[in-house]
Amino acid sequence: MRPALHCLIPRPAEVTLTEGEFTFTRPLQVSDRLPAIRERLEFFGAKLADDATAVITVAKDKSLPVEGFAITVTSNAIRLTASDEVGEFYAQVALEQLLWIAFAEGTDVAKMQCGTVRDYPRYPMRGLMIDSARHFQSKTVILSVLDMMAKLRLNHLHWHLTDGEGWRFPSLGAPKLNTLDGRQAGCYAAAEIAEITAYAKDRHITIIPELDMPGHSWGLTHLYPELACDSEHPGNELCVGNPKTMEFMLHRLDEMLALFPESKFIHIGGDEAGTGHWEKCPKCQAKIKELGLANERKLEEWFMVTMSRHVLKAGRTPVSWCTSAVMPDGHLFQAWNDVHELMDLAWGTRKNLVLSSLYIPFYMDYPQNAEEPHFNWMTVQTEEMMYDGEPAAHMERELGDRLQGIESPLWTEMVPEWRVKAKFLPRAIAIAEVGWTKHELRDYHDYLRRRLSLESAGYTW
Ligand SMILES: [Zn+2]
Repeated sequence: MRPALHCLIPRPAEVTLTEGEFTFTRPLQVSDRLPAIRERLEFFGAKLADDATAVITVAKDKSLPVEGFAITVTSNAIRLTASDEVGEFYAQVALEQLLWIAFAEGTDVAKMQCGTVRDYPRYPMRGLMIDSARHFQSKTVILSVLDMMAKLRLNHLHWHLTDGEGWRFPSLGAPKLNTLDGRQAGCYAAAEIAEITAYAKDRHITIIPELDMPGHSWGLTHLYPELACDSEHPGNELCVGNPKTMEFMLHRLDEMLALFPESKFIHIGGDEAGTGHWEKCPKCQAKIKELGLANERKLEEWFMVTMSRHVLKAGRTPVSWCTSAVMPDGHLFQAWNDVHELMDLAWGTRKNLVLSSLYIPFYMDYPQNAEEPHFNWMTVQTEEMMYDGEPAAHMERELGDRLQGIESPLWTEMVPEWRVKAKFLPRAIAIAEVGWTKHELRDYHDYLRRRLSLESAGYTW
C-alpha cells in the first residue's frame, strides 16, 4: 500500500517521508481542538486517553502561507500546524483522509509512516456553482454539496438563485416572484438561507448569491410586464431604460444583501442579454440619448455599472459574467467563454481581478460520458479533461495575481436534484486539485491512484 502521506487529495505542495511509523494501536491523547479527529478515531475504534504518551496536537505557525498547514508525523506524535483558522480546518480535513488510509486494513494494525506534509493553495478562490433556478434543490442537497466541498478544500459556492424559470430567494417587496415556477416549495425560506450560510461558514466556505440581470429575466418580465420593453410581449431582457426597472432591481439587490450578510461577494449576473428589445424601445432609446451612449451595449454597461456600484456601497465585492471590462474598481469579473475573454477582462482599462470558469473544460452540466442526459450541442467533458484543464489556458504568467482562481458551474436545465452529486462527482475532485495544486505537481494518473486509494479505504466525498 502507498504511504498515507502520498494519498492526499488535493496533492500537497511538499511531502517528505522519514524513517519509522506512528501506530494507532496504543492509547492516544488527542487535543480538544481537533473534534473531527477525535470523532474519526472513535469511529475506527481507537483507544483515546488523556494520559497517553502518543499525542495528536495542533498549534499556530505564522510562517505558513494563508490557508496553509503542515502535518508532522513522528513515532510518538502527530503535530498539525497552521497559519490561520482556515489552515487549521484544512489540516484536520487532510489528517482525516490520512486516517482512512491508516485504518484501511483494520484497527489492530493501523499505522502511518512518519514524515511531513507542508501545504497551501495555488489560488485564493476555489469554487463550484449550483443553479437552483432551473431545477430547485432542497436544503439537504445544498448542505451535502457543502460537505463535499469542505473535504475538497473548495472555499466558494456560487449560488445561481434567479433565472427565467425561477426566483429562489424570498422577496417581501415583490412576492409574485416566488410563485414563478408554480411550485410552493420552489423558494428558500429566509431561515433556510441563514442555516445554509452558517453551515458554509463553519466549513470556511463563502456563499456567492447571484441575482441574474438584465437578461435571463423572462419569468420576471411576465409577472411584471411593466418592467419589460414591450409589456404585450415581454421577453428575456429587462427594460433598462425605465427608471422603475432600476428602482425595482435595486430593491431586490437590497433584499439579497440583507439575506446574505456573510457574503463578501454578490453576483449581479450580466450574461447573455440580447439587444433586440432595447433597439425598439422608446424608453431605452431615450435613455441612450440622455446619457450620450454609443449603443445598446453601452446602455447595458451603464445598468450593470449602477448595480455594481450599489454592491460596492454596501461594502461587498460585486461579481459578474460581464463581457464589458468597464466596471468600477473592486469589481470581480467571471470569464466563461474562452481565454481571450479572460485576458480582455483582466487587462481592460486597468488592473481587473478575474475568476476563470471557461465552459470548456470546466462546465459541470456537460456530460462526463455520452450516456448521461445532455443537450446535443454539449461535448463530453471527462474527469481527465477537467483535471488537465488550466484556468488561464497557460496564460498564467501573463495574468499574475489578477487571476483569483477557478469556479466550475453546474447549470441544471437537465439536472434534477437527485443527480446533482452524480454530476459533481468525481469531477469536482479533479477541479479541487486544479485550484489547489500547482500545475507542475499535477499528474492525472497519480491523482487517479490517490482517489482510488482513498475510496477503496472507505472514504466518501
Ligand atoms: Zn426598454
